[in-house]
Amino acid sequence: MLSQASKWEEIIITTVIEVGRLEAEVLVEDVDEAGAQERGEIGVSLSHWGEAREGMGYMTMDASAFVDFMTGRLTDSNTASIQSSSMDLDSLINSLLPSWTSVAMLLSFFTYLGTVGSILPGRIIPGVTLSDGTRLHYRCNGMLLLLLFVLLLGAGAWLDLVSPSAIADRGLELLSTTFIFSVFVTLVLYVTGCQSRNQSSSLKPHVTGNLIHDWWFGIQLNPQIIGIDLKFFFVRAGMMGWLLINLSVLAKCIQEGILSKSMIFYQLFCFLYILDYFFHEEYMTSTWDIIAERLGFMLVFGDLVWIPFTFSIQGWWLLSNRVDLTMAAVIANCLVFLIGYCVFRGANKQKHDFKKNPKALIWGSPPKVIGGKLLASGYWGIARHCNYLGDLLVALSFSLPCGLSSPVPYFYPIYLLILLIWRERRDEARCAEKYKEIWAEYRKLVPWRILPYVY
Ligand code: NDP
Repeated sequence: MLSQASKWEEIIITTVIEVGRLEAEVLVEDVDEAGAQERGEIGVSLSHWGEAREGMGYMTMDASAFVDFMTGRLTDSNTASIQSSSMDLDSLINSLLPSWTSVAMLLSFFTYLGTVGSILPGRIIPGVTLSDGTRLHYRCNGMLLLLLFVLLLGAGAWLDLVSPSAIADRGLELLSTTFIFSVFVTLVLYVTGCQSRNQSSSLKPHVTGNLIHDWWFGIQLNPQIIGIDLKFFFVRAGMMGWLLINLSVLAKCIQEGILSKSMIFYQLFCFLYILDYFFHEEYMTSTWDIIAERLGFMLVFGDLVWIPFTFSIQGWWLLSNRVDLTMAAVIANCLVFLIGYCVFRGANKQKHDFKKNPKALIWGSPPKVIGGKLLASGYWGIARHCNYLGDLLVALSFSLPCGLSSPVPYFYPIYLLILLIWRERRDEARCAEKYKEIWAEYRKLVPWRILPYVY
């Protein structure tokens, strides 16, 4: 049988979340009425939990008043656990509810990207030739746009105008706000797409009549608003959003005094990857998403919600988990990042250069070309999608700083593995259809899809 004291402790421990979230007024009143007698062991442990959880008024409540109060409401510790989990669910729902602040934060971000992005100088890059012979043009000034924004936010934080941890503090509500925005904007795209009479390749509506399908996959290839290409805009917003979340998580970490080696390496790898993305923003203009997918919920959700909020899981995880990295682990982690980055960037660059100039040297030698159209040397002679392999290694390097104690930080590389295998299959089918016998010849020459001797 439990002694009275240990029974109280058990009640306290199993119900403390419940207590922490009860109306502070009620508790504070009890404290005042009951006075401060009988504060003992239980009071201390209550105080400790109170600090850890909420830091609310009940910390000064005396032990007997607390037990009286609780026993009037709770019959045993099971009831307490059930109630505390329902309170947890309530608080989760509460933190998911969009506030006007999160709406304002999101809209300010989009307004900045739309207005300043149209003004700042940048290279104007022609996109691929569409089926009607036209080409879209993209203003590639993402790097400048991003650095200026970070600079402005930094200045705002310095002047105490914005809180550097604002995004990290409102992570869940920003997530739901962005999700609702994605649903809303794709419904608008669906309606305006259906009404469009434009017959150009980029704006011609493709309506199957199945509302869910059309909303999900989109109706138009490159819809625009006031001259802004929305597809390019959203992918840019997603990649910048990811960096902003990371920086905010970093700021929170510093504020709370829990900056670790793991956090530094995670931040550094992501920072370099995102910066590299904007440095090579023009390469985006020839990727599958830009040239082949229509703009529907799948892409908008992927760009605005999926990329920033799930690619940053490792950072969120490190906020509440501590990992001790050995020097060997750090070195191995850096190598995975560097090798992955070289393969990823090198392969994409080789293809990009080849498309611009089919005679461009590959690793210092003239390229091996099949049927005048397919590159079969360099990374493209090792595996048919070596660029995916590089991306996967980089993704793994973002998670390795979190150690191996939990699968949660590995969400991104696991997701990317599934996505890229699926994508490679779809691209393979598309290329087989487009290039016919020269693709078959390429397949014979380069039998590996992503990882030589494995897949
Ligand atoms: P690719 O850049 O690999 O583009 C595929 C296209 O390239 C093919 O459809 C074909 O198009 C052309 N091509 C294929 N093989 C050859 C060849 N041997 N010679 C010449 N042209 C060839 O695919 P993605 O657009 O899917 O990916 C681009 C990058 O983005 C990758 O590095 C990928 O890892 C990354 N990515 C990252 C994601 C993430 O969530 N982190 C998600 C998706 C992609 P054509 O008809 O023009 O010849």
